[in-house]
Amino acid sequence: MNLKDISLFRKNCLIDGTWQDADDASNFPVIDPANGTELCSVPNMSSVETQRAITAAKNAWPTWRKKPAKERANILRNWFNLIVANADDLGMLMTREQGKPLAEARGEAIYAASFVEWFAEEGKRLAGDVFEAPQTDKRIVVLRESIGVCVAITPWNFPAAMITRKVAPALAAGCTMIIKPAEQTPLTALALCELAVRAGVPPGVINILTCDIDRVAEVGKTLTSSDIVRKISFTGSTEIGRLLMRQSADTIKKLSFELGGNAPFIVFDDCDIDAAVEGAMQSKFRNAGQTCVCANRIYVQSGIYDQFAEKLAARVSQLKVGNGLEKGSEIGPLIDLAAIDKVQDHIADALSKGASLLVGGKSVEDEKLGYFFQPSVLVNATQEMKIAREETFGPVAPLFKFETEEEVIAAANDTEFGLASYCFSNNIKRVWRMMEALEYGIVGVNTGIFANEVGPFGGMKQSGLGREGSVYGIDEYTELKYCCLGGF
Ligand code: ADP
Repeated sequence: MNLKDISLFRKNCLIDGTWQDADDASNFPVIDPANGTELCSVPNMSSVETQRAITAAKNAWPTWRKKPAKERANILRNWFNLIVANADDLGMLMTREQGKPLAEARGEAIYAASFVEWFAEEGKRLAGDVFEAPQTDKRIVVLRESIGVCVAITPWNFPAAMITRKVAPALAAGCTMIIKPAEQTPLTALALCELAVRAGVPPGVINILTCDIDRVAEVGKTLTSSDIVRKISFTGSTEIGRLLMRQSADTIKKLSFELGGNAPFIVFDDCDIDAAVEGAMQSKFRNAGQTCVCANRIYVQSGIYDQFAEKLAARVSQLKVGNGLEKGSEIGPLIDLAAIDKVQDHIADALSKGASLLVGGKSVEDEKLGYFFQPSVLVNATQEMKIAREETFGPVAPLFKFETEEEVIAAANDTEFGLASYCFSNNIKRVWRMMEALEYGIVGVNTGIFANEVGPFGGMKQSGLGREGSVYGIDEYTELKYCCLGGF
């Protein structure tokens, strides 16, 4: 691993302030998706270590919550500075274990740091309330307190940002944390924890457990059934979200979920076509199409359909596919073979139902060892195709043709998902109508990128519960306590 600071290449887990292996010495490999080689192995933790982490987080909570918010903020501020200072190394770890191009990976490190900076500031502004009581002999005070032991279960597509977006508000509010990163991308997570220790996060306040796909159910069960764990923040598939919700029912945990999406990207005749093409490129092909807010269905109004398709295909055919370490690489590998299979299945299904390919459509032949797929554009996509109903999570842009605003609103909302949506139009009244009509937690208007620490990120319907980032994100880690003072 080519790092400036090789001590960030952590291969064990942090529990109660010490770096530990699995008690049974079990571990599992971390694979480079660009060539299928093993980078290293990390501990395969079980319920035993999970229980230990829960106890550590429980014991650390009373002291951490009682620290002045300003002190917690200072530690988070240190963490922010360290993440920024080590962004190159964090980017390198991400590119190696996840595949995204180096520049994009470094960008994610900075994006991840922005949540730490933001919540270091927000933590100092947490406040309760005082209300006028309906009786003269009473006083009403509302305290805002930290929830307690929290768990973050995170996905592989944003190995750094999905962790800081959960851990930073939790710590700022006075909670302690157990992180369970995705089995594909533990190294970035472990490096972030190493930096947290250097920043001064006390033992037990942040703990991390890595485990493979065979042990994740056991670890997940231990976390969800624990009386001590009060909150689970999960980003991942809707299927696992449902499972975690069911498993958390017995202990009535607080939950924040950021689940699957099926983002519509709507392009009206009255938009700036070049801006819409650019937006589609950014939204669809970032991280090789592997984000939950990637445009999944691109609806283009009939008057500009052909022109848009032609321009998009021209841009897509220029994208450089390759190992994320190579200079100029824009599309890295997909995460694994199953991801390639899904993309291929969606394309085959679309072609069999009348769509046609303008560009791409195949896995990349000369990169056989890695999981590369050609960025692709499909025209004549329809609602009956799998690509319209399921999240493709790959570099395929299917173009659907529509005539009227009413028709496209109905099609866009015809899904159980409701995370991100996009709309391109220069008609302010139409834009406003679309913002109101789209049943999505996020509406990007004339832009393909909206993710930052300031806007609330989250979904409606089966795309999730709660919001991350923003002034609202810290609420997910606090409880309100109503105190009624009588006898005045
Ligand atoms: P994806 O399909 O994108 O990999 P998943 O929902 O399977 O998304 O994974 C997201 C996160 O949830 C990962 O950290 C994964 O290890 C974790 N996970 C998967 N299954 C379980 C489970 N049964 N209990 C707890 N966590 C799980």
